[in-house]
Amino acid sequence: MHKNIIMFDMDGTLLDLAYDDFIWNEQLPIRYAELHACSLERSKEILYDFYQAHSHTLEWYSSRFWTAKVGVDMLAMQLEYKDQVTLRPQAIELLEYLKNNGYHIWLTTNADCAGLDFKLAHTGLAKYFEVIVSSESIGYAKERVEFWQTLQQQHAFNPEDCYFIDDTEKVLNGAKAFGIGHLYSIAQPSSAKPTRQTCNYPMLHQLTDLIPVLEQFEDTQKYA
Ligand SMILES: [Mg+2]
Repeated sequence: MHKNIIMFDMDGTLLDLAYDDFIWNEQLPIRYAELHACSLERSKEILYDFYQAHSHTLEWYSSRFWTAKVGVDMLAMQLEYKDQVTLRPQAIELLEYLKNNGYHIWLTTNADCAGLDFKLAHTGLAKYFEVIVSSESIGYAKERVEFWQTLQQQHAFNPEDCYFIDDTEKVLNGAKAFGIGHLYSIAQPSSAKPTRQTCNYPMLHQLTDLIPVLEQFEDTQKYA
């Protein structure tokens, strides 16, 4: 029987977003304040304005862009704390289930290529995926329909049959505009923050909540 493609986001979906929050919202403000001899409060204000100006763009996800912008080597800083990169609960359990049941598992991330590489190396996740793509190599952030169009040109797939799980609503909006058929969000992307209350997409409270969804879909196909 034909099995669907299950596409995953990385940070905040398979990996705990607490790491990225720690790097960008805690460590960078400290380093920036040291480097530019300003107060931590002022550093946070400046960085907040930078973040607002660049969020959801390809630059936002580029450690090279931020290194040039803030004067702190962001890749080196991420590597310095790489031991804090952690899988979300049930990530391996879900990936094992999908692999054992013949699903096609893809990873589509906005992490830049260098960030993707060290996180995959640290977590050992690479072995699960048939396709691994960084938006840096596509040339558009996942929020943009062009990301999905380019991905489809490079790796043919039928959007309607795809499941896509991502913790960022704007990314899900882009995927929806392109026509991805089954979209899911994440209830608690960061273990250090509370569960989100609302989202315009169905939320997975545990990653393994996807398993009964897939089983139910298979049943409907069987008797269709
Ligand atoms: Mg994410």
